[in-house]
Amino acid sequence: MGKLIQIKNLVKKYDDKTVAVNDVSFSVDEGSVVSIIGRSGSGKSTLLQLLGLLDKPTSGSILLNNQDISQFDDTKRALYRRKKIGIIYQNFNLLPEYSIKDNICLPLLLDNEKIDQAYFEELVDLLGLKQLLSKQPYQLSGGEQQRVAIARAFIIKPILILADEPTGNLDKANGDRVMDLMLNTAEILKTTVIFVTHDNTLAKCAGRILEMSDGILVTSTM
Ligand code: ADP
Repeated sequence: MGKLIQIKNLVKKYDDKTVAVNDVSFSVDEGSVVSIIGRSGSGKSTLLQLLGLLDKPTSGSILLNNQDISQFDDTKRALYRRKKIGIIYQNFNLLPEYSIKDNICLPLLLDNEKIDQAYFEELVDLLGLKQLLSKQPYQLSGGEQQRVAIARAFIIKPILILADEPTGNLDKANGDRVMDLMLNTAEILKTTVIFVTHDNTLAKCAGRILEMSDGILVTSTM
């Protein structure tokens, strides 16, 4: 299996005292599912932000598909992120004044890109959103809103899905369902997923668990 991600000696310092990511190295197989666990403040979100091109490392390299994204300038980073990476947040972040359909398609609408209708319908089916398309976000439950956010992350046909505590705002039943649907969608579409969680049970849904502690990668299961 090919490597989608190769991280070498990655460091992110916010200031002299705060080394949020401290000499982290690992690689991720294409099509695999990886979870990141660790205490609050251990560097999980920072690591995800670096992978998502939302921030720049202090040193070290991140190869995505053999391309070193850590060297990209701001414009290139933003473009690469918009086109290639689907990001799912804890807080859904849907736009209240848009319909569910438009929320899903927003990343394409913003870039004036055509919607692949068959792919759109496949996503809607996989995530059980068919009956909700003409509604507004406020009419949906938290679990439904997160399923919409998942569809929006997948609509660009990303090479990588990053999710930061995707079930953090949901109760256990809804959280489990959302996690199941996200991973099932990724499996069918053969998309690599990295998600952060503080829930060790949910972490085990991944094929591999990375554990962070004080900025250091302390455990990595295979
Ligand atoms: P986690 O996601 O595991 O809770 P974070 O990556 O958010 O950990 O934080 C790692 C460390 O970096 C913490 O000490 C945190 O206070 C610090 N940190 C995070 N973001 C910033 C920032 N924007 N500026 C300064 N320090 C930050």
